[in-house]
Amino acid sequence: MKRTHSCGDLRSEHLGETITLAGWVASTRDHGGLIFVDVRDRAGVVQVVFDPAAAPEAHTAAKRLRAEFVVAVTGQVTPRPPASINPNLPTGEVEVRAAELEVLNPAETPPFEVEDSVRADENLRLRYRYLDLRTPRMLRNLQVRHRMAQATREFLDREGFIEIETPLLMRSTPEGARDYLVPARTRPGSFYALPQSPQLLKQLLMVGGIERYYQLARCLRDEDLRADRQPEFTQIDIEMSFVEEDDVLDLSEQLTQHIYRSVGVEVPAPFTRLTYREAMDRYGSDKPDARFELCLVDLNSVFDKTEFRAFRQVLAGGGVVRGLRVPEGHSLSRREIDGLEASAKQAGAKGLAWFQVLPDELKSPIAKFLSQEEQTALREATRAQPGDLLLVAADKFPLACEVLGRLRLDFGRRLGLIDRSKWCGLRITEFPLLTYNEEEKRVEPMHHPFTSPRIEDLQLLGAEPLRVRAQAYDLVLNGAEIASGSIRIHRRDLQEKVLAAIEMPREEADRRFGFLLEAFQYGAPPHGGIAFGFDRMVAMACGEESIRDVIAFPKTAAAVDPLTGAPAEVTQDLLDELHIAIKLPPKRQRGDEPSA
Ligand code: ASP
Repeated sequence: MKRTHSCGDLRSEHLGETITLAGWVASTRDHGGLIFVDVRDRAGVVQVVFDPAAAPEAHTAAKRLRAEFVVAVTGQVTPRPPASINPNLPTGEVEVRAAELEVLNPAETPPFEVEDSVRADENLRLRYRYLDLRTPRMLRNLQVRHRMAQATREFLDREGFIEIETPLLMRSTPEGARDYLVPARTRPGSFYALPQSPQLLKQLLMVGGIERYYQLARCLRDEDLRADRQPEFTQIDIEMSFVEEDDVLDLSEQLTQHIYRSVGVEVPAPFTRLTYREAMDRYGSDKPDARFELCLVDLNSVFDKTEFRAFRQVLAGGGVVRGLRVPEGHSLSRREIDGLEASAKQAGAKGLAWFQVLPDELKSPIAKFLSQEEQTALREATRAQPGDLLLVAADKFPLACEVLGRLRLDFGRRLGLIDRSKWCGLRITEFPLLTYNEEEKRVEPMHHPFTSPRIEDLQLLGAEPLRVRAQAYDLVLNGAEIASGSIRIHRRDLQEKVLAAIEMPREEADRRFGFLLEAFQYGAPPHGGIAFGFDRMVAMACGEESIRDVIAFPKTAAAVDPLTGAPAEVTQDLLDELHIAIKLPPKRQRGDEPSA
């Protein structure tokens, strides 16, 4: 059996040729006399006809074919009768008249129909991923991923970057998530950490004089998973020496364009530049979807003399009042409005005020607390039209903006305001260096502790650390953060100041990444970098919602691989060798499967 052609490649130009195909049976239709079998390989599907008169042996063998059998067929390419030409199939003008059939391998009845796997339950698809991978959709996704990876390498190679692999067995990296640990057999009681990113190593590469590094790097983070997260994911990881913010961002923008162009998507450049503050102010998000211009409105001046207590207190405390106009939002029922309030509260807001805009009145439970002037000013500031709904949040700056930002996105989707044919890239800069972690009651880095403050804000580091802006930046595409990075601290004295601001004791810093601080003493060049979320970029190019659909063997939301059964128990011998004793939480037995 030597195949001469791929099933999906056959066209009218092959008419008359005798060819050999190999592939999987996609479907069979026994019409009594003729048997039609669709044979599929990586290139596509073609119809093979078994005729009892022309090839009785092959016809008899074809009767036993079932879906997913692996076959080789030799026959002649012939035109389909005009009535059975299928314009929706690339091979739809031809068929193969079989002369010989060889069954290379029979198959069990698959647990779901491969041709229709979209309808199968996702756990089942993952359990039998190799069947799912036979679908045109998954094949296309992996091909797009491959193309985008190639384009990445092509572009960065041309720009003088060196691809360098960094270890998977290493020390913990402070990206803020939980580490996956690997016990070290040779040092009982010690563990390697799987890298949350190659952050520290790429900085060491800069100290090592590499100047331009990249890697398609696996990152591993033991986090609670959301739809768009995986415990292991891939970054296009980049680091450069002797650069400033715009150097990294210009290159990143060009890289983004180049990658998407390789799969037929033109992402317009230059990307719109927004500071973090502007993005929050206008869109209520640090990764705004700017494909639609429904923007938040600053209402501070409308309410600066208000008698309404809730707003007055917020403004007096340095907070803000922001509004969102929902066009035609009057059709929302009271229950739906209650739902909006509930989701605002869930996001941490104290509440959400709303106003139905009538021709000569604002209808709202709080309208009676507002003066006529305030109501007029509110209408004017938001450019409200009769029939609209106004939503107003009063809170600390980020919270008030975020609450309305979520609703903005929600209404953008609901009202069909998002132009899905558009690609809209943004550069977000001037992120705060630090944020306050309400749960743990402490200041922590917004990006990671190696991010440089903006030099002009340095003097605020002692007294007002939360006002210090960082030389940190993101690239955002259609409302998704596709890349994130910063100019790094490259001097030990500044690094120590920032560690002091996040109250990380010297001993802890030395223990966790003393090797980096030490390296800074041996001539670290100014450097900076960025990392792209490659899976998300591919998913967006494929029009997939979930990154699971662009990863060959992903895990479920419970971090389980239904195909191999990982994570799994290991034998007592192995544990003994590692000097590990298992202490289970109450009521769990060893080997209990976490639910998928
Ligand atoms: N290591 C960072 C991250 O994974 C990216 C960077 O700063 O380059 O978010």
